[in-house]
Amino acid sequence: MKHVFGPVSSKRLGQSLGVDLLPPKSCTWNCIYCQLGRTRAYTLERKEFYPPEDILLEIQEALHSGARIDWITFVGSGETMLYQGIGRLIDEVKKMTDIPVAVITNGSLFSLPEVRSELLHADAVLPSLNAGSEELHQRISRPAPGFTFSLHLEGLRQFRREYSGRLWVEVMLLGGVNDSDEALQDIASALRSINPDMVHLVIPTRPSTEKDVLLPDEERIERAAAILAEVAPLVHPVKGSMDLTRSADLLEAVTAITLRHPVQQRELLSALEACFPDLPDKAAETLSAMFATGRFSLIEQGGEPYWTKREA
Ligand code: SF4
Repeated sequence: MKHVFGPVSSKRLGQSLGVDLLPPKSCTWNCIYCQLGRTRAYTLERKEFYPPEDILLEIQEALHSGARIDWITFVGSGETMLYQGIGRLIDEVKKMTDIPVAVITNGSLFSLPEVRSELLHADAVLPSLNAGSEELHQRISRPAPGFTFSLHLEGLRQFRREYSGRLWVEVMLLGGVNDSDEALQDIASALRSINPDMVHLVIPTRPSTEKDVLLPDEERIERAAAILAEVAPLVHPVKGSMDLTRSADLLEAVTAITLRHPVQQRELLSALEACFPDLPDKAAETLSAMFATGRFSLIEQGGEPYWTKREA
């Protein structure tokens, strides 16, 4: 399928059927931690990049496949809300099924009323807030000119006022960049003014655009979790990572995730080990079976091995 992938497992959204609405890479930002590569040219114009009928047909097919699906998640090879007409897609999906719909977005277009209104029928919206100051917003997200921190924050606040569904704000914690107490207090203060239902703290566990993007150390992760949990219930990055325990076919589940984006070997092994608590060799055996398919390569970044799709 061209637009639909998965379902992939995560602790945040269970078995999530992904729907990608954009050609790569179409984004208003150029984050230093982006796993899709650099934004060569910003995309600022909202468009119906693909016919909605094609996307809905693929979703329909996936729903008929019999696979367990907990969420249908709109994402993009870039900024999801650049797809003009996402609101209609959400409404059409809700006519097909009772499965809840989530939208992952950077939130950069929320200052536009037409963007906010397209999201009102989603069950959960997951925008990003990685900084609590203009300086760090520019340094981390490297947005297109004019996409200031104050515009971003005001857009998120306004959306919260209008949206009654679940607003789960995602904070990417980067070692040495936004993990100081001062930066975290700024983020907490910005979050407080938005009033999200939950904060999802995430860390850069995948190879990034910039080689010097670092994982924060354990002490900083715990400190960030403690500060941000004062604002809203928090999903912890380590405890909230990949969950394979409910996958009917492990090899297929792991393959689907890794074909989509590189996965840290450590994360993969720990998710597999959780499936076989009494069989210590089984996780490594599953990895070997995966490698034997010839569809993956092992790469290294920052001293960490990652599994990734083998280029043709
Ligand atoms: S908003 Fe998402 S897709 Fe866009 S540059 Fe940042 S991480 Fe990449």
